[in-house]
Amino acid sequence: MTHSVGFQLADEAATVKMGNMLAEFIDQGAVIYLHGDLGAGKTTLTRGVVQGFGHQGKVKSPTYTLVEPYELAETNVYHFDLYRLGDPEELEYMGIRDYFSPTAICVVEWPEKGGEFIPTPDLDITLRYVGDAREIEIQSISTRGANIIDKLKNQIE
Ligand code: ADP
Ligand code: MG
Repeated sequence: MTHSVGFQLADEAATVKMGNMLAEFIDQGAVIYLHGDLGAGKTTLTRGVVQGFGHQGKVKSPTYTLVEPYELAETNVYHFDLYRLGDPEELEYMGIRDYFSPTAICVVEWPEKGGEFIPTPDLDITLRYVGDAREIEIQSISTRGANIIDKLKNQIE
């Protein structure tokens, strides 16, 4: 069963707030895919998630390093950006499997570049340009993801 929900995000602050809200409902072991063109807001949304879990510093896209770890009090969050990944097999060499553990949350920009090496997600999120603003569509792929969407809907209605 697929659940989905969509919201308009009027400005950058709204995207960050959406990420904060997601952080409230995501639990450890969750895998989130982020789709959208360059500049659509994937990293901005991730900043909201990571800060929602208590990170105080900057959040930059790990475009060259592929992954940025955030080891926080409540959980580890791993932020992947696979935009510059050449060969999906590189993920094997970097020990990709160890990141996707039951005690971590993984947020993945450009997951399609990782092919079969990236586990299927709980939530599949797409950000789109709407003029100068953005919209977000959140789809669940698992029961865990569906529960997150139910909570989001309850929070917002
Ligand atoms: P991506 O990671 O998808 O390439 P970024 O998050 O790095 O995108 O950049 C998104 C850009 O769009 C940033 O300049 C940010 O300030 C801006 N932005 C984010 N959310 C919104 C929004 N809802 N409306 C308008 N601009 C936004
Ligand atoms: Mg990015």
